[in-house]
Amino acid sequence: MSKVTIKDIRVILTAPAGINLVVVKVETSEPGLYGLGCATFTQRYLAVRSAVEDYLKPFLVGKDVDNIEDIWHSCMVNSYWRNGPVLNNAVAGIDMALWDIKGKRAGMPVYQLLGGKCREGAAVYCHADGRDVYEVEDNVRKYIEQGYRYIRCQMGGYGGRSEKLSSPENAPPGAYYDPDAYARSVPKLFEHLRSKIGFEVELLHDVHERLQPIEAVRLAKQLEPYRLFFLEDVLPPEYINWFEIIRYQSVVPLAMGELFVNPCEWTPLIVNRLIDYIRVHISAIGGITPARKLAAFCEAFGIRTAWHGPGDVSPIGHAANVHLDICCHNFGIQEWSGIDDRLMEVFPGSPIVKNGYVYPNDKPGLGVDIDEKKAAKYPCENRVTMWTLARLPDGTSVRP
Ligand code: MG
Repeated sequence: MSKVTIKDIRVILTAPAGINLVVVKVETSEPGLYGLGCATFTQRYLAVRSAVEDYLKPFLVGKDVDNIEDIWHSCMVNSYWRNGPVLNNAVAGIDMALWDIKGKRAGMPVYQLLGGKCREGAAVYCHADGRDVYEVEDNVRKYIEQGYRYIRCQMGGYGGRSEKLSSPENAPPGAYYDPDAYARSVPKLFEHLRSKIGFEVELLHDVHERLQPIEAVRLAKQLEPYRLFFLEDVLPPEYINWFEIIRYQSVVPLAMGELFVNPCEWTPLIVNRLIDYIRVHISAIGGITPARKLAAFCEAFGIRTAWHGPGDVSPIGHAANVHLDICCHNFGIQEWSGIDDRLMEVFPGSPIVKNGYVYPNDKPGLGVDIDEKKAAKYPCENRVTMWTLARLPDGTSVRP
């Protein structure tokens, strides 16, 4: 095969569903051959664009597109300081685009390059919320009717919503919630759901790091009778040493990691078998190259994958998740937030869900393209992020 080099790298910003997405396009010396990657860090999308266009592009133009492993490592250390969500997302955009190019050159989908299929489709979990237990139950039933068998159940959003909050005078604005009221509400929610719906459907719950560590331990114990598929992000990355205590107190399966950006965060949880599912955000750890290694590392310890799949992942990033889901033996579950008609219009070839399973297409590479004219119809907006301004009833700012 003749040598193909990187000719240009561009960042495409678009928000078809109202969420800012960052797509990296790597153009090559071969006319018409390009790759696409997801570099979406929605809250800091302009910083990622700068990392790609101002720093990585001059470093990479002229390099051989075949050498993904070397490019990944050299990009990660070129700034000397490494890891962190801005750089990792920027590198991930390049990395996914290079895997896309490699697949196109080989005439194969990326999952074939990674070992081939372990399964035809990947089971997904969706998200049911509601103001009270009855509304959550109704929404769970709607998903069951649509063929979903794994459903994450929340009540009033992350951390719940409390009607009566007593705050000090002049308390600053923020997304207030009451962690005690929230912690008390969760076992009641699952008691209701299991008594009405039974145990045939798998139920999940996301704590979203909203509890103090000892309250997280208590909740994990209280949820045991309801046989959750997993309890998600029960503590923030800063408190990973508490996982050992939770583990020895409860057999609730634990999923962790959507905020992880550094191998030092996940390594102790894996080698000590303190979690059951690794659920990092693939672009936030640097792309397909580190994710496939992380999956293999977890396989040796009996830990399964559950890649983060929210709305702030582009359809190209969702495709990267699904290609890994299809070929990793230790796949567990895939979070699925849905791809609406506007996203489908901008990103032809996006993965689709049928009857609770998501499928990649069989096109070479990641199989998803971008229509740049249509993408331009949905410009990104640089707004101050408010939902992350979580506050306790007394006004203290806490992790969201
Ligand atoms: Mg989560």
